[in-house]
Amino acid sequence: MTDRLVLVINCGSSSLKFALLGEADRTPVLSGLAERLGTAEGVLNWKAGDIREQVLIADGTHRSAMAELLPLITRFAQQPLAAVGHRIVHGGEHFTGASVIDDEVIQAIKDSSTLAPLHNPAQLTGINEAMRVFEDIPHIAIFDTAFHQSMPPHAYRYALPEYLYTEHSVRRYGFHGTSHRYVSRQASLLMGMEPGHGAWLTAHLGNGCSTCAVLDGRSLDTSMGLTPLEGLVMGTRSGDVDPNLHSHLARNLGWDLERIDNMLNRESGLLGLSGLSNDMRTLVAARADGHAGASLAIDVFCYRLARSLAGLAVALPRLDGLIFTGGIGENSPLVRELTVRHLALFGLAIDPAANATPPGNPARQIQAEHSPAILVIPTDEERQIAEECLALLDFTATQSAEQEA
Ligand code: AMP
Repeated sequence: MTDRLVLVINCGSSSLKFALLGEADRTPVLSGLAERLGTAEGVLNWKAGDIREQVLIADGTHRSAMAELLPLITRFAQQPLAAVGHRIVHGGEHFTGASVIDDEVIQAIKDSSTLAPLHNPAQLTGINEAMRVFEDIPHIAIFDTAFHQSMPPHAYRYALPEYLYTEHSVRRYGFHGTSHRYVSRQASLLMGMEPGHGAWLTAHLGNGCSTCAVLDGRSLDTSMGLTPLEGLVMGTRSGDVDPNLHSHLARNLGWDLERIDNMLNRESGLLGLSGLSNDMRTLVAARADGHAGASLAIDVFCYRLARSLAGLAVALPRLDGLIFTGGIGENSPLVRELTVRHLALFGLAIDPAANATPPGNPARQIQAEHSPAILVIPTDEERQIAEECLALLDFTATQSAEQEA
């Protein structure tokens, strides 16, 4: 079998992250990040094996950054690309899986932009620019929301008037689907179960954080909702607050919606609670030095995380394991320890030696004897996107072969 290559693109409003992945090798052939786009200081850092380089993006546009990729791909790819996979944050209710990008898909992504005004327009720019540079190759969209389209109505509906759902699409969607899907599948492999099977609670803890209840490869409930603000305490996002907070701040402090929105998304979470940083590494170090704000921020983060996991447990018929992933989930023994302490009711307990982060941070089990499985699994969203692209190509190839037969 030839080792097919997929270029995975994740476009933000001021950034462009990419990875060139082969089917067989777990390490990307080439990967990189263009940052500070939209300014005169645009810069692209890339690496391929031991080679690392930096390229200035003089005009700071997504178009120029994308154009820089073409010679790099030509240099490092041994064969033509099989597909370009695009990470898209919000697919609304239109998408339950990977979709080959055509005019209809582009329109649907535009239609979902009101639900993700910061993300979808930037990702549409990425699609347009990539389609200009990489012509005649299938471009495939992978949606963060798609994995959660299997949630039942009792999990995705808010207790709001029905017309807000039917006419204005107000419902819970969930995000980080690519990561929750990837780690739950890896968990079944790690535990020697049939691939994709099992009843899992997953905690994706990065700058954004969410939990998910996954049964046999299907999301049954998740902590994020209409937007990625709902649910857990995050780096700078508040997570759940009383919905009346908005009117309280407007009436008593005279704040307008933009100010409230900004405070909840950019000034809250670990940063707001600690008064110090949104970065868990900084907070763990400051807590060890006796910083009260850092200590409180970590305690609230872990308690609210445990509460979310306990709540999501009701979606599952049993628990085969709890999975930690994301920058914090993979790298912070303290967060895992403090969180699991609140989950003793489920019989969950950690083995301290296994919990200590080993070099290379491999996927592993960290539970104490007699506890249900507790797993640390490094996430790999680019790998998951590449695999979904190839699976879609295989599926469409089989379909057209059947039609011809
Ligand atoms: P991500 O968005 O998945 O890259 O995760 C970013 C978060 O992971 C930041 O809050 C980092 O502080 C956190 N992180 C990375 N390494 C560590 C570590 N060794 N200990 C604690 N937190 C970490």
